[in-house]
Amino acid sequence: MPELKTMEYLKKIYKKRVNELQELRNNGVKVIGTFCIFVPDELIFAAGADRTILCGGKNETIPLAEQYLPRNICPLIKSSLGSIVNDGCSGIDSCAHFGLVDMIIAENTCDGKKKMYEILDDFIPTYVIDLPQRPDTDIALQYFLQELESLKTELEHFTGNEITSTKLLDRIKESNEIRKLLHQLYCERKRDPSPISGVDVLKIIQKQFFLSPTEFKHILKMVIEEIEHIQPEQESNTKPRVMIAGCPLSGGNTKVPKIIEERGGVIVCEESCTGTRSFWDLVDEDENKDPMLSLSQRYINIPCSCMSPNKKRLESVVDLAQEFNVDGVIYYTLQFCHGYNIEAYNVQKELKKAGIPMLSIETDYSDSDIEQLGVRIDAFLEMIS
Ligand code: SF4
Ligand code: SF4
Repeated sequence: MPELKTMEYLKKIYKKRVNELQELRNNGVKVIGTFCIFVPDELIFAAGADRTILCGGKNETIPLAEQYLPRNICPLIKSSLGSIVNDGCSGIDSCAHFGLVDMIIAENTCDGKKKMYEILDDFIPTYVIDLPQRPDTDIALQYFLQELESLKTELEHFTGNEITSTKLLDRIKESNEIRKLLHQLYCERKRDPSPISGVDVLKIIQKQFFLSPTEFKHILKMVIEEIEHIQPEQESNTKPRVMIAGCPLSGGNTKVPKIIEERGGVIVCEESCTGTRSFWDLVDEDENKDPMLSLSQRYINIPCSCMSPNKKRLESVVDLAQEFNVDGVIYYTLQFCHGYNIEAYNVQKELKKAGIPMLSIETDYSDSDIEQLGVRIDAFLEMIS
């Protein structure tokens, strides 16, 4: 696949954004840290604040976190806390944007994260949204709406800015614009062969909640414009088309997608929070409706494995696999992530009914299993070719 100019541009963006956040803070703008796609960006921006994602994807900070947390929990949680408690004296590079947030808005999702947030509050003020986990009930929607109303009040108090319906609707429209651009990018991947590698798409989407909406839109437009003109290469359309489903692949973590593509597959879709779950559904823009209700309806329907029952996810994995015409699904679980790990059983059952093969893998952020994963992925790719 050709080298994309967008990827060159992306490499330079980290420092620019860190400087931008620093400057905003110097000018009195509050910066909020988040960990999860259940926290509506729209409310943060409507309060005149900015935000940045804090999920850890790097292995280096895990030993630091293990001074505070048990070893046998998910690497994403450990890596995230490790980056925050890293004071730079350990010899491990500090993650610059952790020092830039005034407050964290977190959410009650999986057990590990919930308990980690209790520790986090000792380091950075942490506000936690309670998330009902039966998304198919009216009572859950009403409860979630109340939780978002409380968050709105908290943000207004913290920033000193009122969140009016007009401001919120403007932000909903802006976020929907990004979601539509992501749909366009994913639509290009339905071509056979796909004009872009899965690793490149992942590196872009990992920046979704780090960059400002304006910069992220610019990058999406740039990459779409670039790949629209790529002509299919005859030899590459024999590559097996793969979808990854499961845990998020946070910034810095490209281990498994790289193995898949180095071994000859091409990833054409991610059913993940660093993939479709973050943008697939839009927020209703109806001006005659309370925008807080529209937000609640969209966000409570994110099919994370913390939801039970999680029928929507089971349907969406099969729908996506068919829509993107994949030859097989690689189910990706981070070690000790019980939600996604257990849900693999039902996902496999649904995929089997649809005649779509699935390989389930469980891994962490270390390099120790690269060879072993490579052998299993090789065998799977050969089987679905
Ligand atoms: S997997 Fe669930 S808890 Fe994790 S970021 Fe996604 S929605 Fe949030
Ligand atoms: S990967 Fe799983 S265990 Fe880890 S934070 Fe996300 S939902 Fe929780």
